[in-house]
Amino acid sequence: MATVRLILGDQLNPRHSWFDRVDPQVTYVLMEVRSETDYVKHHAQKVIAVFAGMRRLAEQLQAAGHRVRYFRIGDADNRQAFAENLRQVFAEVGARRFEYQEPDEHRLDEDLATFARTCGLPATMAPSEHFLDARDGVARHFQPAAKRWLMESYYRSVRVRTGLLMERDGTPYGGKWNYDHDNRQPWKGRPGLPGAWDLAHDHRALWSEIEAAGVRTFGSPSAERFPWPRDRVEALAQLDAFITRGLPEFGAYEDAMHSTSDRLFHSRLSFALNVKLLSPREVAEAAVRRHEADPDAVPLAATEGFVRQIVGWREYIRGVYWAKMPAYRDSNDLGHQMDLPGWFWTGETRMNCLRHAIGQSLGTAYAHHIQRLMVIGSFCLTAGIHPRAVEQWFLGVYIDAFEWVELPNVVGMSQHADGGFLASKPYACAASYISKMSDYCAGCGYDPKDRLGPLACPLNAFYWDFWLRHQQRFANNPRIGMAVRQAMAMKPAEQAAIRAKVAQLRADIETL
Ligand code: FAD
Ligand code: SF4
Repeated sequence: MATVRLILGDQLNPRHSWFDRVDPQVTYVLMEVRSETDYVKHHAQKVIAVFAGMRRLAEQLQAAGHRVRYFRIGDADNRQAFAENLRQVFAEVGARRFEYQEPDEHRLDEDLATFARTCGLPATMAPSEHFLDARDGVARHFQPAAKRWLMESYYRSVRVRTGLLMERDGTPYGGKWNYDHDNRQPWKGRPGLPGAWDLAHDHRALWSEIEAAGVRTFGSPSAERFPWPRDRVEALAQLDAFITRGLPEFGAYEDAMHSTSDRLFHSRLSFALNVKLLSPREVAEAAVRRHEADPDAVPLAATEGFVRQIVGWREYIRGVYWAKMPAYRDSNDLGHQMDLPGWFWTGETRMNCLRHAIGQSLGTAYAHHIQRLMVIGSFCLTAGIHPRAVEQWFLGVYIDAFEWVELPNVVGMSQHADGGFLASKPYACAASYISKMSDYCAGCGYDPKDRLGPLACPLNAFYWDFWLRHQQRFANNPRIGMAVRQAMAMKPAEQAAIRAKVAQLRADIETL
């Protein structure tokens, strides 16, 4: 029976069971469409990376004997939307069945479910065979009415279920579940960085096609030396390089930032994972194997810290997304209303930490977790930017930004807009934290120690004003009550001066 199977741009897993055998009745459809490039303005590298990966998978499937119908962005018969292109292929091949893999985004899930109901063919949704848990696995782990779902509890259940870093008797390997306390060091030039293992593809021709089709993007395309993997072989090589060279120091410097390196010891595997070139299980297992082979070189703290990101945070975030969408998208529990300053699109701000983190994001489509959370996110949170504006910027800028993972990280973890459902405290910081964890302040025209003077670091006044504004809400939070009580203990004149300073900073926000 002639069957059409749709493969989405983030479903590039060549080991999916769909491809186990060649069936001449099956046509695989991949399409580069404006409905996907235009729902938010994307970083140029993100569009190139997804299209390059799709083209590569199509080539590989064809080479293996599968029938493939591919729509390039500039093709004359490309109607630039899933439904229209699919109907065209149905007619071309005389389709009798339609199949698609479980999408990870709510928007696509609804669109494809509607299409499946109305396309006139029997339609089936197949598992994507990527995640460790089902969409509702996290929701099933917790009480539905619980005020918050703690990631740590879910993470432990995944460890038990998968046996990752577990002893035979059901206790955690090494005696502890979590080694986060060992993982908070600043990096000051030692140990040496692992060196780059990035790729250098020439994607100028593809970039010209994207530009010619009129797709609007931002950020540097880096088309001459494109660093992101196109296929599984390249992704595996990146995984191997990280496990050998980055993982040993990953834990200790996980929270560090430095102006000389945009990645330090981080893996930069999020793109390969999110488009499913790599599976979370194989990435976690590779880290555990490396530790077991050489525990002196690769400490347990680094291994556990890395495994927690992949099988804990990543799966948990996805579960929250599916449990809370679509209402989650509009969360704004703190009532923040400001728009993003224009320098989010240029990186041109005098605040050195933000200039680095945003400039790097525009240049490379990448920033590591602490730059996202404690520099860019914390600025937006304490300045009072509308979470939807922040979310849309994050969704566009990062190479790994797909809504299921980006939205809960921004709305929940970083902007605390969900009332603390996902994060038990707001991640807000002043210059003291940036100064401790990076060298950014040393190269900044602002004074990290001052709150109110003309050259005072703007982050300080925003930080104290944030606690003053939201004191009722956070005073009893055991994780940050001290900061709130410190703000509340300030003399009324000092509180007023902070408020006045913040009013001025907001008025001048475009030129900070
Ligand atoms: P590493 O530090 O090497 O970590 C290894 C892997 O763990 C990552 O590749 C990723 O797959 C996973 N991981 C780590 N933390 C998280 C997390 N909080 N949620 C989900 N997975 C995690 N991650 C995305 O994949 N896409 C996003 O759009 C995204 N947006 C974010 C926005 C904000 C405001 C914050 C605070 C975090 C966001 N994250 C996002 C999570 C995390 O910052 C990135 O996964 C990580 O920086 C990617 O770089 P890496 O591969 O070098 O990660
Ligand atoms: Fe950032 Fe303030 Fe430090 Fe400048 S002084 S780098 S603005 S924290």
